[in-house]
Amino acid sequence: MKSSFSIPTRILHHDRLQGAAEGALHQPTHTSVAYGFEKSEDLLRVFQNKQKGFAYSRQNSPTVAFLESQLTLLEAAHSCIAFSTGMAAIGSLFFALLKKGDHVIVSRYLFGNTASMFISFERLGIEVDFVDVCDVKNVEEAKRENTVAVFTESLANPVTQIADLVAIGDLCKKNNWLYVVDSTMTSPALFQAKNCGAHLVVHSLTKYIGGHGDALGGAVIDCGTMNWEGFGNIMDIYKKNEPATWGMTQIRKKGLRDFGATISPENAHRISIGMETLSLRMKQNRQNAQAICEFLENHLAVAKVHYPGLASHPQYEKAKEWFGGGSSIFSFEPKELDSLELLNRLDLVVNSTNLGDNRSLGIAVAPTIFNELGPEKRREMGIAENLIRVSVGIEETEDLLEDFKQALA
Ligand SMILES: *Cc1c(COP(=O)(O)O)cnc(C)c1O
Repeated sequence: MKSSFSIPTRILHHDRLQGAAEGALHQPTHTSVAYGFEKSEDLLRVFQNKQKGFAYSRQNSPTVAFLESQLTLLEAAHSCIAFSTGMAAIGSLFFALLKKGDHVIVSRYLFGNTASMFISFERLGIEVDFVDVCDVKNVEEAKRENTVAVFTESLANPVTQIADLVAIGDLCKKNNWLYVVDSTMTSPALFQAKNCGAHLVVHSLTKYIGGHGDALGGAVIDCGTMNWEGFGNIMDIYKKNEPATWGMTQIRKKGLRDFGATISPENAHRISIGMETLSLRMKQNRQNAQAICEFLENHLAVAKVHYPGLASHPQYEKAKEWFGGGSSIFSFEPKELDSLELLNRLDLVVNSTNLGDNRSLGIAVAPTIFNELGPEKRREMGIAENLIRVSVGIEETEDLLEDFKQALA
């Protein structure tokens, strides 16, 4: 397939071009746990990374490897490792690459479970600073002698803050810090974090990439831009092949193999199929989000709308430049109407905690996903007590607008 074709086109043909039996247009789902070899020496070579192949599917299998090749193509990257969930990807990556006494700078606006995970890392002797990543100055000020990495989301939820992605990338390059970007909210259809200097990209495949809300998954993608020779935490045993592979080898061994958060072949297959329509779905759901947000911003019953596709958003220009606008996540604060009552009045917006589903989903943020934090932390994160988060689906725009109109009337 010509590399001049666009990525959405190439993804559609990627399956058959890997050569499935009988000319099948999809790869089969291989559920075998172990793989056998004619010669004992071949198994040995697979173990020692000297020959391509599969031995035991906790570490990799053909179906998962296919998903990884799709994701590598989506991000125009170097390599990918898939995991059972997005949390497993983030947890395994930092578990594999950090050591006691390291300092990491992370976004203050992280996905709740990710923030909770970094608090656990602190308890294990890793120093963590949670900073406002919307301005690179805050990242720079957090610098310590033992800083090794920066972690941020491209677009945070529920308040849709956008990290100072390019400037942070430059700062990481200057200091040779590992730069990891969770691009779940933007997806590779809107944004390739590599272009902002990211070394590793993380996705929850459960969200937009799968799209159908029927399979959990996660991935770490290596953009091929990190100087692993200058990164102090690679163990000698993983320095055998070219330096470009060092980081991912250590993540696959110390993270995936030893932690064992492996994605099932069935889920990998579902996500592979879902990915075929990613760019189409992202066009529709962002168009929907834009239309709803414009409507809400002008509605008298609404106090505030947070959406990067609105000129009122503090990082509107950056969103336009980097992502081509907003994603399908927005949040808003009703004026007098009770949030729970408003959610109950919406017919098309399902009361659900997930995001990036084909269906529109909504949730009252403070008493649910940010309940554990308490009111003070919520205020620090810009989360109003009556905030409603919506993940807009791919329903027809007019239907969604009609639903919001009747709910606010
Ligand atoms: C959902 C999500 C995760 C975690 O992904 P799971 O697949 O649910 O484990 C991580 N980061 C972000 C930004 C998410 O939205």
